[in-house]
Amino acid sequence: MRALNEIIDGTIQALETMKRSGVTHVEVSRATLGQLGKAPAPAAVQEVTPPSVDAAAELARIEARARACVLCKELSRCRTSVVFGSGSPRAEIMFVGEAPGRDEDLQGEPFVGRAGELLTKIITAMGCRREDVYIANVLKCRPPENRTPLPHEVENCLPYLISQIELIRPKVIVGLGATAVRALLDVELGITKMRGHWYTFRDIPIMPTFHPAYLLRNPAAKKEVWDDMKAVLERLGREIPTTR
Ligand code: URA
Repeated sequence: MRALNEIIDGTIQALETMKRSGVTHVEVSRATLGQLGKAPAPAAVQEVTPPSVDAAAELARIEARARACVLCKELSRCRTSVVFGSGSPRAEIMFVGEAPGRDEDLQGEPFVGRAGELLTKIITAMGCRREDVYIANVLKCRPPENRTPLPHEVENCLPYLISQIELIRPKVIVGLGATAVRALLDVELGITKMRGHWYTFRDIPIMPTFHPAYLLRNPAAKKEVWDDMKAVLERLGREIPTTR
């Protein structure tokens, strides 16, 4: 019954998230209501209207689905949280990483561990705040021991990321590391070759760069990442901060 309990917990959390984001109605079929033992009168059904389609509410609906997702058996069994994404639904810049690690799994928020602290520094150096940008990962669940996501896990989870991108429609995507870039672009080159060059995902410019975890191991590569972030700011017509 574990899977059922997870689905119920996920549904409750998801409904709470939707409520916090201002969603006041959800679509429920008569059949479902009937199963709950309270089939409504037809008039009551007509009162159930779909929520207005704004990005925040739609993101909350998709987050709800992700929270109940058990497509990847191993990941859904091991997770503490589904780490959907954080930041502004109107963000001009979207950062995409690989998958939650231990800290992210425990806190339910992307990039909050050591690599996350470095990403926050990069965002601040760009003259932005974390809450102004949007941060998400290819996988929403932590792979055990932080192993690299398996191809079927990427395939299962990618639709959530694509929905996030389509709803937010950022002006620029920053692909953090090879997994993120490979998931979004059909390019076989390594990240070292791709970084610093513009690509396109569904008409949105994407700048591949090194993952912050790589920078923790190779601090000398921070210079290249800063060059890439300057290219992002230039593309957005923003001023490049001189003090870092
Ligand atoms: N690494 C990632 O790719 N994503 C996170 O959220 C944290 C670490």
